[in-house]
Parts: sequence; structure tokens; C-alpha cells
Amino acid sequence: RSAELIARQDRRESNARTYPRRLPFAIRRAKGSFLEDLDGNVFLDFLSGAGVLPLGHNPPEPLEAAHRQLDELVHGLDFPTPVKDEFTELTLGVLPEPMRSRTKIHFCGPTGANAVEAALKLCKTATGRTDVVTFQGGFHGSSLATLSVTGLVAQQAPVGGRMPGVHFFPYAHCHRCPLGLQRRSCSVNCAGFLERSLTDPNGGIPLPAAVVLELVQGEGGVIPADPEFVRRLRAVTRQLDIPLIVDEVQSGCGRTGTWFAFEQYGIEPDVVVASKALSGVGLPVAVILYDQRLDVWRPGAHSGTFRGNQAAFAAGVATLKVFRRDDVLANVRARSHQLTERLQELRPLTPQVSDIRGLGLFLGVELADPKSGEPASRLALRVQREALLRGLVIELGGRDDGVLRLLPPLNCTAQEVDTAADILRDALTAALA
Ligand code: PMP
Repeated sequence: RSAELIARQDRRESNARTYPRRLPFAIRRAKGSFLEDLDGNVFLDFLSGAGVLPLGHNPPEPLEAAHRQLDELVHGLDFPTPVKDEFTELTLGVLPEPMRSRTKIHFCGPTGANAVEAALKLCKTATGRTDVVTFQGGFHGSSLATLSVTGLVAQQAPVGGRMPGVHFFPYAHCHRCPLGLQRRSCSVNCAGFLERSLTDPNGGIPLPAAVVLELVQGEGGVIPADPEFVRRLRAVTRQLDIPLIVDEVQSGCGRTGTWFAFEQYGIEPDVVVASKALSGVGLPVAVILYDQRLDVWRPGAHSGTFRGNQAAFAAGVATLKVFRRDDVLANVRARSHQLTERLQELRPLTPQVSDIRGLGLFLGVELADPKSGEPASRLALRVQREALLRGLVIELGGRDDGVLRLLPPLNCTAQEVDTAADILRDALTAALA
């Protein structure tokens, strides 16, 4: 029945559909860490709606809160409401001090891309500058402006060039150094290059309105940035008064084991972008959290109809309470440790397992040719298929989709992690056969 529905949709829906091409099932329902398809097959879901479901599918308390809210008020534009007030208080409340007391929130149109656009626009307005610095391999959305700052060429439908004034720099990915250097002897050359480009009057780029960065590149292949690089980037952007936008659309809301990934890097961004997992149930909500000195917009300067999804706020409030009550972040760290250990079992199976990396439950297994370093894309695709046949849903990413991406629910159990690791080992064995 899944196949029939997929075929029917194939005839009617846009060619740009992506997930069902590689994960060919139609979903009937889902609960916790599991999805059920139309034929009654049950899958362990280590995709979590593209990193959207921190407590798995349909978590009881957030869902009940959303249901109750639906009876009161659904759509609130940007009017104040009690549930929005509580959501705001809790969302700002998770920020570390002294950042918290300086931070303001803006509710954006409902997607991650909307919020990244808002962040870029705010920084341009506040600084009066036009240029933007961003990084190779990064992903910030599919709208025209966010595509312009996305450094994954494969993601880009031909649209006749980027927004003007976007400058791409190498991202500090030491395992595959963009400058071909070794970590021990490189002196973080990529940071030096960026510093010189920004500070040298002949550096070739005008003072930018913002630097935008993912601390863990997700779509780019689960690549945590080098901490020293991030520290120096923060220092130089402070020195030159360039707002630093950290895109935590995928890395935020507990995914890396702290509420935001920037906490682990010991920096304070000027703007944090959050969306995907904010409501905890998949109801759309997106915000920017920004330093009050950037609070330059006047009423109407950045509006949008769908900025007041009250059910998303109610679910988000309940989700944060579950995080606190159940210490979900501690579970992220414990399960991360367990899964990382278990993934080591893949290494002896083939030298093509070239890296196992990530932060928290944001993990990736890079498959590449051991000599050339070229992505082993066909092998990755076969592993994804074999895993699906054995009941595990995972996603691919990185250059030429050579990285297995694991995004389990943040409240997943030790047993679910073991099951996934067993399946991955069997799937890789089968894919190599
Ligand atoms: N930024 C990052 C880091 C993302 O991972 C994504 C989505 N994968 C986006 C922005 C865009 O979010 P959305 O798809 O909700 O527009």
C-alpha cells in the first residue's frame, strides 16, 4: 500500500520531492522513536523529522498542551498572549547569563529559512552594511537569500547567481582540511586567512554586515567546527564589531547535549537562529534571539502572517518542562557516548569508514575512499537502503551524500540505540557484500 500511494503521489506531486525517493514508505502514524508505514511495517526513526522531534513523535505532554491550546486560540499574529509570554520567558530563560539579560526575541515566519533571512536582514539594517561572510559546506535554507549563503553547491537549483556581496570562506573541518593542512601544524590557518581578509584594508572584502555560521554543519555532513577556529572568529568579529549569527536551526534545542551548541564553544553569538525542534512536536515556529544593540527595527519593518502559532508555543513550553523534569540533556550525553562507542564497530568492517564524528545526538559516519578521500556515495546509499530493509531510518548528507547522518530522538533509550547500532552493522555488512 505504501508503494501504491508513492506511485500515485509521484504522478501528481512536484519532482522536487526528496525523502520518498530514498526512503520509499508512506507513513500511517508514529509514536516515540517509531514510525509505522501503510503496510504495518515499523521503523526505528533516527531521522526524527529532519531533527525536529526531540522527544520523538507525538510526545504526550506537549501534544496535550497543544490540543488544549487549540480550543482556546490557534492563530495570534504577533499579539501578546499568555502562552506566547510563557514561551518567550522560557526560551530566553535557557540562555546563559550575562547573555540572557541582553537578549531580545523576534518571532519570524515559521521556517528556519525565514529566521535566517530575518537575522541577515536585521544585521544589515543595524550595521548599514551589505556584505555577508559565510562558509563552504554550510546550509542555511532554500529561499533565495538563504541559498545565497549556503555553501553546498549541490543544494542550489540554478537561479542565476547569488545575492550580491556574499563571501565564502573555508570552514574549519580538520579531518578534511580545506587548505590541505594537518591539524597539529596548521596554526588554524583558516582562522588566520579569515582574520587577514577582514582586517587587512587590502583583504579584498568590505566590512560585512554579518558572519553566519553553523557550529555543526548538518546537511554538510555533520561537521563540528574546530573550537580554536570558532574562538578566533568570535574574537575578530568582536574586535571589528561584526555581528556573528550562529545558525542553530539544526544544532539547537538540546541536539548537541547542551541547549545550544555555542555553549560548548565558550562563545556568545550576537544572533542565534532557532527553529526545527522548538515546539517539540513538529508544529512550526522560528525565532531569532539577538543582542539588544541590534534592536533597530521599527514596527512593520519585519512582519509575517504566521508568527503566532499558539499551539506551537504551548507545545514548546511543555517540551521545555519535560526537558527539565526528565533531564533530557543528560540522556543526550549518555546515549551519545553509547552510540559513538557502538559505531566504532563499523570501522573493522571496511577502511571506507573514514570518520565517526558529531556532538551529542548529532552524529555522522563518513564513508570515503581511504586513498583519495572521495565520498563513497554508492556505499552510503546502499547502507541507507539495507538499514531501511532492517527497520532503521537514517539520512545521508555531506559532499555527494557520503555521510550517514544519525539524528535520533533526544529521549531515545539505551535499547533503541543498541538496536540501531546492530542494524547499522548488519546494513554495512550487507552493503559491502
Ligand atoms: N539552517 C540549518 C542549519 C538547517 O539545517 C536548515 C534545515 N535543514 C535550515 C536552516 C532551513 O530550515 P527550514 O527547512 O525550516 O527552512
